[in-house]
Amino acid sequence: MINQITKEQVTKNRTKKPDIPQVFGHPKGLIYLFFAELWERFSFYGMKAMLIIYMTSHLMYSDEFSFGVFASYGSLVYASPLIGGMLADKILGYRKAIILGGILMTLGHLGLAIETPLFFYGSLAIIVIGNGFFKPNISSLVGKLYKDNEEKKDGGFTLFYLGINLGAMLSPLLCAWLGVTYGWHYGFGLAGLGMITGLIVFYKGINDGVFGQEGLIPDLENFNRKVLGLNKNHLISICSFLCVPVVALLIYYHEFGEYLMWLILLGISLVLTSIFRAVNNIERQRLTVVIYFTILASLFWALFEQAGSSITLFADRNVNLIGINASQTNSIGSGFIILLAIPFAWLWTYLSKNNRDLNTPVKFAIGLFLLGIGFIIFGYSAQNVDQMGQTPMFYLFGGYFIYTVGEMFLSPIGLSKMTELSPPKYIGFIMGMWFLATSIGSFLSGKIAKMTTVSSKNTSGSENNFLDKAVELVTGLSQDKAQQMGESFQQLYSYVSTFTTVGLFAVALGILAFIISPFIKKLMHLENE
Ligand code: GLN
Repeated sequence: MINQITKEQVTKNRTKKPDIPQVFGHPKGLIYLFFAELWERFSFYGMKAMLIIYMTSHLMYSDEFSFGVFASYGSLVYASPLIGGMLADKILGYRKAIILGGILMTLGHLGLAIETPLFFYGSLAIIVIGNGFFKPNISSLVGKLYKDNEEKKDGGFTLFYLGINLGAMLSPLLCAWLGVTYGWHYGFGLAGLGMITGLIVFYKGINDGVFGQEGLIPDLENFNRKVLGLNKNHLISICSFLCVPVVALLIYYHEFGEYLMWLILLGISLVLTSIFRAVNNIERQRLTVVIYFTILASLFWALFEQAGSSITLFADRNVNLIGINASQTNSIGSGFIILLAIPFAWLWTYLSKNNRDLNTPVKFAIGLFLLGIGFIIFGYSAQNVDQMGQTPMFYLFGGYFIYTVGEMFLSPIGLSKMTELSPPKYIGFIMGMWFLATSIGSFLSGKIAKMTTVSSKNTSGSENNFLDKAVELVTGLSQDKAQQMGESFQQLYSYVSTFTTVGLFAVALGILAFIISPFIKKLMHLENE
């Protein structure tokens, strides 16, 4: 019965005239959200690109301590969307949440421009909280704009993803260049200006009425009900600031990150249990799919996030780079997304119009499979190594290309599907869950990166199991051979063996996900799948 209603609604929606202004078949609001998110990501990634070097060369922290701070910031900044999403669903609505998040992120980036440890931790904490309000809710608002236009939603999110990556590609180049050349406060200041620009664009969207009735306060009466003599908006803002010292301490004492992760998982299980109880059977099955996608995405990000850590060091030490340095290799992925986003948006819309759409579980399977192939290409590069232990740059670009195509199959599609699979009342929270996958992924990625350190490799009795043989087949190297060839080959082996191992794992997972995709598709109960 409910399934029938869903089908009828979809058909009705397809023929209904949209109440949201459209341009070129997409909601006009997408253009505003595209630029607002572009500038937000400009500030986010500009700051992130400077973070490690700022800590090691300005604050004079050890590498190990800096990695710890970097990892705990990375996982907290993607865990906070759970709370920001939930508060938007229940109290603030997406618009107010995005504005609060944007203001906090601006303050955080500008605060970093004051170069003292107190401002450093305080500002990182403010960014963590601000991102919690901004990131899930701007994505949910994109989804809402497509409520009358479901078949274009994947294409719309793919374009939105282009905005993200334009910001992500430009800012490391600009902010990091300003920071290193003219002083850190200029780099962080520029990141802050980026966020202010994003906020202005969003305000303009509201003034121009391009969001229709979407993203407003969900329950005005509840919103206006005072608590402790304060309205909810003020109360949430004050609580956000009160949380700053707590988050700052969590970043500083990063060695407790593992416990925090377990605590978050426990919290999310409790919330999910209560949502499971409150929804009907079909919504429950859809939520099971959300959990399945979140688990696959956590594993995807665990590998993907090697880009900023082990792949950068591999590029630095064992790739014959021409014309770019190792840090700049971080822009390669975003560059490919920029090339791929428009063809992909077109492809999804074309397939959907011709009823030849690939369903989402298959897209996820392909995404994981391609990510794995990308890593195997990094591993295969060792077959063409020179005498100095340097591999040709071609393989780094080739691997990144395939890996980025994998990202296009999974990341924008995941964003899009979260808005469809979620019961309407919980979209913000479910979007928060999607970002939690990155948080868990960042945490796991630290463990994978550690596998690439030469000292972590077992030096005795190798090549006796299936995996070692597979690694040797792909890379042409074995641990014994690498040891005989000298230090730079040992270093190379530590990278390519890890990349090949995780690559094979992702390929196997992709194949498994493909096999079970018909079953997952059934659980989705979506007409357009
Ligand atoms: N690079 C994308 C962004 O910044 C994806 C982030 C993520 O979900 N891991 O939005």
